[in-house]
Amino acid sequence: MSSKQDWRKWLNFSCTACGNCCKNTIVLITDGDVRRIMEGTGLPAKAFVRFFSNVEMPQRDSLWIRLGKRRVAMGLKWESKPTRCMFLGADNMCGVYEHRPVTCRSHPFEIKTNDNWGITRLGISAVVDCPHEWDGEHTLRELKATERWNCDQVEAFEVKVKAWNRKRSGKRTADEFLRFVGLA
Ligand code: SF4
Ligand code: SF4
Repeated sequence: MSSKQDWRKWLNFSCTACGNCCKNTIVLITDGDVRRIMEGTGLPAKAFVRFFSNVEMPQRDSLWIRLGKRRVAMGLKWESKPTRCMFLGADNMCGVYEHRPVTCRSHPFEIKTNDNWGITRLGISAVVDCPHEWDGEHTLRELKATERWNCDQVEAFEVKVKAWNRKRSGKRTADEFLRFVGLA
């Protein structure tokens, strides 16, 4: 089978809910993700948002947020010992599954699309060990929809981050940023 046909095998990927991808990883989020979790859980943004400066992102990435003299990225809070997303339960299930970030919905798929959003290649992330099974039933339509949702949401957030970073007056605190993007 050629590699061009072979990528479709990932449509049968199925998650075994081992929880590895919710541990030891920083989950970056957008204002859209935060708003959905706030509405779904009743929690204020400050209860689950954390700003990280130790993220592996290109120097010029448009998701860097200027806070004071620091440059940070917005992510989900995590707990240490062991390091895990604050929403991951002891049973390795997501406590906000219905409202989870879009990036958690698209993970672990890595998708390449053409200009018309047609999927040209599919794979899975190698960031964490993923002991998956092969009895899944994903469709290209479903994966494409999630990918578009992710891209649209990130683009909308980038516009807000850019406006914040250009702002010349006012405080540059985390609270002010959350207010600026309508989350406080
Ligand atoms: S929000 Fe849920 S799926 Fe996403 S990292 Fe946290 S526990 Fe995992
Ligand atoms: S690492 Fe793979 S199998 Fe484990 S929870 Fe994440 S996606 Fe599922």
